[in-house]
Amino acid sequence: ELLHESQQMRHQAEHDGLTGLWNHRTIVERLREEMNRSRRNETPLCVVLIDVDHFKQINDNFGHLAGDLVLREIGAIFSRSLRPYDYAGRYGGEEFLLILPGCELETALSRAEQLRVAVQSARMMDGKTRLQVTASFGVASAFPSQEDAEAVIRAVDAALYRAKRKGRNCVPC
Ligand code: GH3
Ligand code: MG
Ligand code: MG
Repeated sequence: ELLHESQQMRHQAEHDGLTGLWNHRTIVERLREEMNRSRRNETPLCVVLIDVDHFKQINDNFGHLAGDLVLREIGAIFSRSLRPYDYAGRYGGEEFLLILPGCELETALSRAEQLRVAVQSARMMDGKTRLQVTASFGVASAFPSQEDAEAVIRAVDAALYRAKRKGRNCVPC
C-alpha cells in the first residue's frame, strides 16, 4: 500500500497531469542524462521542439476544454510514435519536447515530418465538432557537441522559430 502510494507520488511529480507525458523539469533532466550518455558512447542524439499553430484560436473559438483535448490528443500521437528509449515531454503550455537517442539529424527530420503529417490529419472530435490543428517543428542535433542542454534547447527553439516564420506547419532543416 505504502509502496504503491510513493510510486504514485513520484509519477505525479515527474509527469504532466493533462497529457501524461514527462513534465518540463523531468524532460530537461532526461535531456542532460541523454547528452551525457551520447558523449560517453559517441552516439547520435537529436531533439525536436513542437509548438501548436494558432493554438490561442482553438481556445477562443471552441473553449479551453477543447484546447485541453487537443493537447491530450497531440500528446497521444507523440507517445504512440516513440521507440522504447525515446522521451516525450510537455515542455510548456502548447509546446512539446522529444528526445531521440541514436537518431542522426536526417532521421530525426524525417520522423518529425511524419509527426507533422499525423497531427495535421488527426481526427480530433469535440462532440460533433472536428478540431483541426497543425504544428510547427524544430529539430536539432545534440551530438557531437560540447554544448550544454540549455544551448541545445536554444538551437531547437531557433529552428522552431524558423518554422513559424516560414508560415507554420513545417519542419525546416
Ligand atoms: P503560434 O502559431 O504563433 O504559436 O500562435 P499561438 O496562438 O499558438 O501562440 P500563443 O503563444 O499566442 O498562444 C498559446 C496559447 O496556449 C495561450 C494559452 O492560453 C494557451 N494554453 C497554454 N496552456 C494551455 C492549457 O493547458 N490548456 C489550454 N486549453 N490552453 C493553454
Ligand atoms: Mg507557444
Ligand atoms: Mg503556438
